[in-house]
Amino acid sequence: MNRVRLLIFNAALGPLDYRVPEGMEVEPGSVVVAPLGPRQVVGIVWEADRLPASDVPESKLRPLVGVLPVPPLKAELRRLIEWTADYYCASLASVARMVLASGGALRGPATMIEYRLTGGLPERMTPQRLAAIEALEGEQATIRELAGIAGVSEGVLRGLCNQGVLEPVEVDCDRLYPRASADFAVPDLSEDQQEAADTFVAAVKKGSFAPFLLDGVTGSGKTEVYFEAIAAALAKKRQVLVLLPEIALTEAFLRRFEERFGAAPVVWHSSLKSTERRRAWRAIASGDAQVVVGARSALFLPYAKLGLIVVDEAHEVSFKQDEGVRYNARDVAVMRARFEKIPVILASATPALESLQMAESGVYAKVDLADRFGGAQLPSVATLDLTVEKPERGRWLAPRLVAAMRERLARGEQSLLFLNRRGYAPLTLCRNCGFRFQCPNCSAWLVEHRLSRRLACHHCGHETTPPANCPECGEPECLVACGPGVERIADEVAELMPEARVAIATSDTLNSPEKAAAFVAMAEEVAIDVIIGTQLVTKGFHFPELTLVGVVDADLGLEGGDLRAAERTYQQVAQVAGRAGRGAKPGEVLIQTRHPTATVIAALAAGDRDAFYEAETEARRHAGAPPFGRWAAIIVSSEDEAEARDAARAIGGTRPELPHVAILGPAPAPMALLRGRYRYRLLINARRSAELQNVIRTWLGALDFPRGVRVAIDVDPYSFV
Ligand code: ADP
Ligand code: ZN
Repeated sequence: MNRVRLLIFNAALGPLDYRVPEGMEVEPGSVVVAPLGPRQVVGIVWEADRLPASDVPESKLRPLVGVLPVPPLKAELRRLIEWTADYYCASLASVARMVLASGGALRGPATMIEYRLTGGLPERMTPQRLAAIEALEGEQATIRELAGIAGVSEGVLRGLCNQGVLEPVEVDCDRLYPRASADFAVPDLSEDQQEAADTFVAAVKKGSFAPFLLDGVTGSGKTEVYFEAIAAALAKKRQVLVLLPEIALTEAFLRRFEERFGAAPVVWHSSLKSTERRRAWRAIASGDAQVVVGARSALFLPYAKLGLIVVDEAHEVSFKQDEGVRYNARDVAVMRARFEKIPVILASATPALESLQMAESGVYAKVDLADRFGGAQLPSVATLDLTVEKPERGRWLAPRLVAAMRERLARGEQSLLFLNRRGYAPLTLCRNCGFRFQCPNCSAWLVEHRLSRRLACHHCGHETTPPANCPECGEPECLVACGPGVERIADEVAELMPEARVAIATSDTLNSPEKAAAFVAMAEEVAIDVIIGTQLVTKGFHFPELTLVGVVDADLGLEGGDLRAAERTYQQVAQVAGRAGRGAKPGEVLIQTRHPTATVIAALAAGDRDAFYEAETEARRHAGAPPFGRWAAIIVSSEDEAEARDAARAIGGTRPELPHVAILGPAPAPMALLRGRYRYRLLINARRSAELQNVIRTWLGALDFPRGVRVAIDVDPYSFV
């Protein structure tokens, strides 16, 4: 092969052809460096007939510079890149960039310097030095990491190096991970669990494409069961990818994994340090990483020999990426399994309607776990009508819920209050002039965070300190908080039950793996009586003494008219309810609502999941919504309001007239201003059979926009803001 076509990491350029110099070996999938103008860029050698041709004549071809020291991307992965780009109307380059997610990894083998204690002591001991020496016992890491661990400055540690107290050690950046072993601690499964596990194990052994929906109530042992499938893949020396929705989940999960397999898995998420990232990437590409537990971005990594994919809590909306390539990891996971010809398990206690529909139509095999493990009963659920049982003035918890919490406290059991709102109050206004604190960059109120004394936008991160006087009318002491957030509920609990030990569990308070682990440990030891949390506490946690769950405001998620509002409410409440009574003691769930007869609330109270899904299915069918019809959104944005509006109108003005395709808008998006950009939106609703992506590509491909305008296409959108 003398002439090769490259996929270049520059979406605007399209594929380019190059000459392979004498003596250089490349094949499709090779990651190479090529000259581009005066620069050098990374590219991937692609099958020439699968990319648009480039018209450079043979004599003008420039030679490749070199091949990077990583395994060529496999054909299965190249097909996945193509499929993802095609389905989500994204560029091949932007998808390929998610594959080559570590710049360091592409540079090949390397070593780095870490430091550890020698056992010696400094000539002059200071309190800081002593603290550092005590904290670093048994640690080995870079100076910067050690400074973090010891809580001292890097200067202190450099001083200790000069004194011979710390010594440098050269380590291989790609040193091997501890080996997991399939039979380290094999559990005794219940009969139901064994049957489910056998199904998965057989599929892993067979090694062909097989999508499963593992549908099991909370606490039924879904994790335990898919661990057996992982064991089967390990025995076969194939890699496993487990996708998890939240970073907070990983700490408890990693511990559990280690107990079962004798070694922690390789983790992958967006906040990995670059050295961890390169090590994980190279181990994944070489096949050395046996099991990878990761957030959605782990899906696009270049696994050498994948044998199984598990998507845990597969209904979670955080599997949908809402920027860049707007893909849904749950759906792409199934496609990856199809290309790799391996099984994929979607596990959930509250599957997405789309997944249930796929199971019903026979595309996914459904595996059920109907009962909780060990005879634990599902909790009893009741609604609490806030229009009848009113909380006291200025309070948010109804007397019956408070009484139930007091009972738990008296018995030494735990309560969990769920409210999906961080901070103290979602809105602050001036009692005197009506001024409201709004984000300057977004169509959103600033949320008061009283613990950290700030007003913050949850969309762009904008923050200010709450002023003493109203910024509008200047009145002192006239600012009032409207509505509750978790901090306000915590205040209320502290007033009502001063002796209770209260913990707030949100992404603000559990913002590191260490804090999350500490919280879990305290909750397990019952060093916490009342947990007040956002969606972060709805899943994964297993606290045997937790016997009461109170849903502070079940109506909250139903506001706003989002397509999936009812489904999301059902899932969140069912998941958080699933935290109650997981041990020997029975659990109770109280749902505060103003609409006890709404379908979703009534179904939750009756524990009638089928009733909810049937009603929801009918509503979706009627609306032509997924999975019966398809949606796509076009979001036009610019820092200039008129520019955004004009571009949206230009798109609207050239809309195609097609049967079975309805195009709504353009209209200002519900978040008309987001991170300083004005936003307009068009919504496309189509029959399932319509070639939605082609319609959109042809339509938008004919248009030109000013430089400041961004046009994003969101296929199968989850966010309707
Ligand atoms: P799910 O993922 O369905 O919510 P888990 O797998 O987390 O359920 O199991 C719930 C709890 O029951 C966990 O603490 C788990 O360790 C325990 N458990 C489940 N199955 C078994 C088993 N076969 N042997 C021992 N413990 C089990
Ligand atoms: Zn903002």
